[in-house]
Amino acid sequence: MVANLSLPRILRVGRGAADELGEVVAGLGLSRPLLVTDAFLVGSGAAERLTATLRRAGLHPALFSDTVPDPTTDSLTPGLAALHDHGADSVIGFGGGSPMDTAKALALLGVQGGLMRDYKAPHVNHGPALPVIAVPTTAGSGSEATQVTVITDSATDEKMLCMGPAFQPLAAVVDMELTLSMPPRLTADTGVDALTHAVEAYVSRKAGPFTDGLALTAIATIGRQLRRAYADGSDAEAREAMMLAATQAGIAFSNSSVALVHGMSRPIGAHFHVAHGLSNAMLFPAVTAFSVHAAPARYADCARALGAATAVDADAAAADKLVDALHTLCRDLDVPTPRSYGIDHADWTRLTPVMAEQALASGSPANNPAVPTAAQIEDLYARV
Ligand code: NAD
Repeated sequence: MVANLSLPRILRVGRGAADELGEVVAGLGLSRPLLVTDAFLVGSGAAERLTATLRRAGLHPALFSDTVPDPTTDSLTPGLAALHDHGADSVIGFGGGSPMDTAKALALLGVQGGLMRDYKAPHVNHGPALPVIAVPTTAGSGSEATQVTVITDSATDEKMLCMGPAFQPLAAVVDMELTLSMPPRLTADTGVDALTHAVEAYVSRKAGPFTDGLALTAIATIGRQLRRAYADGSDAEAREAMMLAATQAGIAFSNSSVALVHGMSRPIGAHFHVAHGLSNAMLFPAVTAFSVHAAPARYADCARALGAATAVDADAAAADKLVDALHTLCRDLDVPTPRSYGIDHADWTRLTPVMAEQALASGSPANNPAVPTAAQIEDLYARV
């Protein structure tokens, strides 16, 4: 099998790396970046810290901070105006997955025009687009290293997966110091998102030897470190390990795929505005229980990497232990059910067929070891 792998050209990783952002951007021959971020990162002073490194390198940055969590097509309009007003030659996505995904969408629309819905999967975008530099502040989405952006269509509430080399950041600057301010809930949700990326990349029908190694390494790290980071956000060792694992998991799924958990999670985010990592967490144990029989050896490897099973366990038993371990992890991270989160049961039931249809249309369920029917997806929604 020939693998077509896509990675950022530059990956600068380590504590303090963010202070070298200006040097990275200048080294790429760019001079007028639009820094795309959110209100929290402006308020915390983190955006000013990045702007200062850009100015020190002789660059001329402009700031756009009106991004929204789970970016929508409507939210791109002022960003595009800022891009054009500044005459930007590049876009820096600074934040969690939402500002980074916004930056990627602006970089594409700023050059190609059109509407995001023209670019959604299964369409593969080869560019052209402005260069994107990504600086994550959560240890979760992995967007800094993926050829993916996720944008919600404001007209239909569809959370659209858009992918292709056009969305691959040219450089990623990964500095765990930026994650120290994450509160426990965000730490847990984004950490489970990274774990889901790693497990789905490994069990995906598109998995390959290159992505396997990164996925298993990320699973092992998250198994050891996520509870620590959740319990004590100032634990620098746990934060550093989680940051690295999230980027590794991002590279893994971007070059393999996500699968059924993500396919079912996006509609929950779009219709009920549940944080992306949290909706993954709500689904992860049930979807894994549904899937393990179709690839017990692959799920067993995940269980062993996570520390939930040993080499002595037969594959089927180890795979079952993965399901148990995910239940325990969700309990330890205080993951609610949709109902205890406050979602109205009647609304959930009413929207289940629509969500199942949207999940299938995204293409992600087709990568799952057990490919579900619409009825099986509806049944899974009913079970969580
Ligand atoms: P986010 O970017 O949506 O941010 C969530 C909240 O956390 C915001 O209020 C933000 O201000 C805050 N925040 C961010 N960093 C912080 C920090 N260091 N300290 C305190 N608060 C902080 O969160 P996310 O989970 O990273 O991203 C979710 C989005 O990413 C979803 O839209 C999801 O679909 C998308 N996503 C994209 C990819 C990809 O490859 N493109 C992969 C996974 C998820």
